[in-house]
Amino acid sequence: MRGPGAAEGAIRMGGVPKSRRPGGGRGGGGPADGKARGAADGVRRTRSARSARILQIETVMKIDSLEKLLIHELKDLYSAETQILDALPKMEEAASNEELKTAFREHHQETKGQKKRLEQIFEGLEFEPRGERCEAAEGLVKEGEEVIEKIDKGDVRDAALIGAAQRVEHYEMAGYGTAVAFARKLGKHDVADTLTQTLEEEGKTDRNLTRLAERVLNFKAMAIA
Ligand code: FE
Ligand code: FE
Ligand code: FE
Repeated sequence: MRGPGAAEGAIRMGGVPKSRRPGGGRGGGGPADGKARGAADGVRRTRSARSARILQIETVMKIDSLEKLLIHELKDLYSAETQILDALPKMEEAASNEELKTAFREHHQETKGQKKRLEQIFEGLEFEPRGERCEAAEGLVKEGEEVIEKIDKGDVRDAALIGAAQRVEHYEMAGYGTAVAFARKLGKHDVADTLTQTLEEEGKTDRNLTRLAERVLNFKAMAIA
């Protein structure tokens, strides 16, 4: 079940806590389920207005608790994974080395699972995953696209693609590492454990890319010099 939860019900953050959906909120269910108490901290929004206000609330919402910060971090990661999911097939197509293509393809599959994990976490926390745009992922993906535009297909492009991909993995590792720490601090150990699975996949992908970079550089790109 939900943890301390006092703040949880209060955060809107673009989310639609299910306890507030028809039949679950206002008045009736209040004190009995204990969740209603959390709604009284000044960020309460009426149910009827929630959809139209999601983005508005997002932008005016103050992040004034670790719990809200965790939700913010998770939304950022969700946006990042969504963007990365779109980018990986393009990177696979742009690569030449078969092992590198396979790595991108496999990580694309893995990323689908990571996105699903985040959706499950949001389900458990009773928030919507959308509402944030990860600008860092947008920039990193754009840099990957520039590599493809500027460098002809071949070993040098492969080396550059690996560099671009590793920047993405490191960004993800920082994000998931942060979210795991916040979740643990909040006593949400099931959330932390789920996020740790993804963190480990990102780390494994990063190490695999390092291994592939050594091959690409040693056997091919270096010969150009
Ligand atoms: Fe990922
Ligand atoms: Fe971000
Ligand atoms: Fe990744």
